[in-house]
Amino acid sequence: MSDGRVAPRDDLALMAGYHSPQLDVAVRLNTNESPEEPPAVWSEELASALGAVEWRRYPDREARDLRTALADLHGTTVDRVFAANGSNEVLQSVLLAYGGAGRTAATFEPTYALHGHLARITGTAVAQGERGPDFTLTLDEVDRVLADARPHVVFLCSPDNPTGVVTPPEVVAAVADRCAAAGALLVVDEAYGQFAPSTALDLVADDRPLLVTRTFSKTWAMAAGRLGYAVAPPWVVDELAKVVLPYHLDAVTQLAGRLALAHEDAMVARVERIVAERERLVAGLGGLAVTQWPTGANFVLFRPEARDGAAVWQGLVDRGVLVRDCSSWPRLDGCLRVTVGTPAENDRFLSALEEVL
Ligand SMILES: *Cc1c(COP(=O)(O)O)cnc(C)c1O
Repeated sequence: MSDGRVAPRDDLALMAGYHSPQLDVAVRLNTNESPEEPPAVWSEELASALGAVEWRRYPDREARDLRTALADLHGTTVDRVFAANGSNEVLQSVLLAYGGAGRTAATFEPTYALHGHLARITGTAVAQGERGPDFTLTLDEVDRVLADARPHVVFLCSPDNPTGVVTPPEVVAAVADRCAAAGALLVVDEAYGQFAPSTALDLVADDRPLLVTRTFSKTWAMAAGRLGYAVAPPWVVDELAKVVLPYHLDAVTQLAGRLALAHEDAMVARVERIVAERERLVAGLGGLAVTQWPTGANFVLFRPEARDGAAVWQGLVDRGVLVRDCSSWPRLDGCLRVTVGTPAENDRFLSALEEVL
C-alpha cells in the first residue's frame, strides 16, 4: 500500500514483457541475426561520414535522403516509404494509427509474437486466426477471421517467424483482395523477404490497403543499428508519420542505412551464402530424428521426434550451442528454432544435436 508505487493501466498490469533470452555461449543461433558483418568498406564509409554529423542540430525529421535511397531500391517514390527504428517501430506505428481502443488486429498463429504484443500494448484487441497443421494459411480461415472479428489491421508474416513457412504469392494476393473488400489494412511482414523466392512488394498500390515491412536487422546484417521501413500507399505513410515522435530516427541511423544501400550487391551475395548454408542445414537435419518444416527464411523450425524439446535445448546449451526454445509456445509443442550461422557454427550445431539425440 505505502511502498510508493503507482498502478499502470489495468490491461498492462496483466501483460508480460517480450523476452528473447540471451546466454553467453560460443555458438548463438537464437535470434536470426546475420552470421556475417556488413562489408568493411561500409563501416569505413560510415566512420568517415560520422565526422561530418552536425551534432547540435536535430536530424532530418523526414529522413529524406534515406527514404529516397529506399525508394530507388524498390523502384518507387519517397512518399511511398516510411522509415523507423527497426520494423518493430513500423509495426507499432501501424497500430498507433490504425489500431487502438475499440479496434481489432488479426494474426494467424503461430506467428511473430510482437504483432499481438504490440497490438495489446496499443490497446488494440487481438483476433487470433489459426494456420493449418503444416503451418500454411488457408483462405477459408482468412475469410472466417475477417467475417467474425472484422479486424482493422491484419498481419501476415511471410516468411513466417518462427515457422519459416512462405505464403505463396497467389495466396498473399488473394488475402490482399479479401482485406481490401473487408476494409482492413493488410501488413505483410517481410523481415526475411530476401531469403524467400517471392515478395508482396509488387502488390503495393495506391488504391490497395496494403503495406510491406522490411528490416535492416536480418538480411542487411545491421541488427545493432535499429532500422526498418515500410513500402505503402502515400495515404498510409502520411498517417504513420503523424504518430511517431518528432525526430524519432537519429542522424547516425539515417546515415548508416543510406550508406548500406550502396552495397546492395554485398547484401545479395551474403543472402545467397546464407541460403546455401540453410539448404545444407536442412539436409543435415534430414538425417536426424527430427521433424522440420520447409523454410524460406534464415532459420529452421524443427521438433525432436522422441525427445523432450526443452531437454534437447538444454543439451545443446551444455555443448555451447544456443537455439530458440519454442517448445512451450502455443501450437509449437516441443519445437526448437535454429538460425543459420557460419558453416563452422552450423557444423557445431549439427554434431551437438546428433550427440544429444
Ligand atoms: C526480426 C523480425 C523483425 C525485425 O524487427 P526489427 O525491429 O527490424 O529488428 C520484424 N518482424 C519479424 C517477423 C522478425 O522476425
